[in-house]
Amino acid sequence: MKYYTFGNNFPSGDGDRWSGVRFWVTTLLVFWTLSTIGLGWLVNSIFILIGLIALVPVIGFFGLQWWIKWNIVTAECPICDASFNASRSSQFQCPNCGEPLQEQQNKFVRITPPGTIDIDVQVVD
Ligand SMILES: [Zn+2]
Repeated sequence: MKYYTFGNNFPSGDGDRWSGVRFWVTTLLVFWTLSTIGLGWLVNSIFILIGLIALVPVIGFFGLQWWIKWNIVTAECPICDASFNASRSSQFQCPNCGEPLQEQQNKFVRITPPGTIDIDVQVVD
């Protein structure tokens, strides 16, 4: 296997420069050897695995962006007109006036328990 002594033909000072090349030549030789002895599926699955490892952060990043876009609503508080972001799925409080709110058709509405009749109370001094 003369390929394994490839780097030794160069002066010792250049050893580091060729170590990268040697690594890839060795890697290719290992893959080539594996595929010739019928382990091509192993090589393929390693490449698929490397591809998946490279793809997961990309998919995760775009997935997260999509999720945030879909899940976060920007609207105004019906009580004090303060504009803020909130999650679509949960109940939350207005950061300005503290009113408990929830999202309904891209708008924030007050949470009124079922059966409650919402009336405006006029305070007369
Ligand atoms: Zn408010």
